[in-house]
Amino acid sequence: MYTDLQGQTVVITGAATGLGQAMALRFGQEQAHVVINYYGDDQDVEPLIKEIEACGGQAIGVQGDVSKEADVKKLVQAAHEHFGSLDVMINNAGIENEVPSEDLSLADWKRVIDVNLTGAFLGCREAVDYMLEHEIKGRIINISSVHEIIPWPHFLHYAASKGGVKMMTETLALEFAPKRIRVNSIAPGAINTPINAVKFADSKLRAGVEALVPLGYIGKPEEIAAAAVWLASSESSYVTGITLFADGGMTKYPSFQGGRG
Ligand code: NAD
Repeated sequence: MYTDLQGQTVVITGAATGLGQAMALRFGQEQAHVVINYYGDDQDVEPLIKEIEACGGQAIGVQGDVSKEADVKKLVQAAHEHFGSLDVMINNAGIENEVPSEDLSLADWKRVIDVNLTGAFLGCREAVDYMLEHEIKGRIINISSVHEIIPWPHFLHYAASKGGVKMMTETLALEFAPKRIRVNSIAPGAINTPINAVKFADSKLRAGVEALVPLGYIGKPEEIAAAAVWLASSESSYVTGITLFADGGMTKYPSFQGGRG
């Protein structure tokens, strides 16, 4: 546990499922106040809110599309109105779809960039603006991907969006370090969440992904949540502008494992 997170207010985008949901629960276990942003009408976050409350945390759900400026402003307002602060902003919402680049439509390109990069930008900007106004030494965590550095054919828009998130994190970290606002990214590798549901349901495809992970297994959402609470806590007080790769070693040239190559 990180006792300094108790009573702090955390906004997490796209938190009805997957990594966002795991992070929301972990911050709840840290007895933080969590604003759970969800996107779809069919996403019921009430059970998650109850689970967080059972751990001694507090939570509210706020529907919104991170690619819309007004919706992101609404998230920060909700944090302020319900919990009186915004200490940690986690830009997690993200989408992907597989298309050979010669067939990638402008509509698909824009949709992925709008959610993954523009959505994270809006979250960063609104959070920084609030933190400056209220003199909060806040923390911003962007959920990037190993594909901020690993090229990914057929996912051009996704890789470009995450590469953009990397440079946004580093630039904002530099710009707001004098105000003691820390900005970092987490780059997950292959984690068992709905974004990978189809891929991991196929045992051959799953084994193919596992072969890319030196630690030899698909990561659990809780392993990303553990990285997030550390980056949000004062235990990481001297850390800003980094990407924390939580990827089982995927970015360490797994084809060289065992001395081959
Ligand atoms: P996920 O599909 O469960 O979560 C994505 C969430 O974003 C969903 O809840 C979805 O409803 C929400 N969302 C989609 N469009 C939105 C919008 N316009 N506004 C608000 N929310 C929206 O998958 P996940 O794995 O939990 O993904 C979370 C983040 O982690 C993403 O940014 C993804 O790129 C990143 N990531 C995941 C993995 C992995 O292996 N799971 C690896 C690297 C990076």
